[in-house]
Amino acid sequence: MPTRSIGMKCRWLSREKFALIIGDGRVIAVAEIRGLSVHEDRVAVDGAVLTEGHPVRDEWIGRPDPAINASQNPVGYCDLPQEAEFRERPCGCKCGEISTRDFLPGHDVRAFQDRVRRLFNGSPLEFFRWVDRMAGQHGVPVLAIRSRPNSDAADAVDQGEPSNP
Ligand SMILES: [Zn+2]
Repeated sequence: MPTRSIGMKCRWLSREKFALIIGDGRVIAVAEIRGLSVHEDRVAVDGAVLTEGHPVRDEWIGRPDPAINASQNPVGYCDLPQEAEFRERPCGCKCGEISTRDFLPGHDVRAFQDRVRRLFNGSPLEFFRWVDRMAGQHGVPVLAIRSRPNSDAADAVDQGEPSNP
């Protein structure tokens, strides 16, 4: 997908995740960027046009160019709130790797196990009792989920503090 076509502009977004294709001052297509390649003095964007149902596409299609005041350059940059969930960020377990989700696969379990080991002396039971007690004390609403475990805050209220870290 060339960035310069006659009568069209391409607004691409922070960290080159999505491109808005602008025609007549409005968004006429939204693409997810897979890569960039340089051809002499031009940069080509490789990607796929998003179809109906994708949240970024549905939010922006038909809307005015969000970077209209930024410059008259055919390529503009801006941040869109809808792309936040797709943005690369550090994995939540603090392993130092990069993910497009809160955690890399399996790293949420690793982070959970790490907390149990360091804060609850390796006892998941102590962890669950502590969570239930905190939820009860702070009025955290309990969602009605069919597979709810057979324990609740009432069982844990009389338990002591968690084991030493
Ligand atoms: Zn991680």
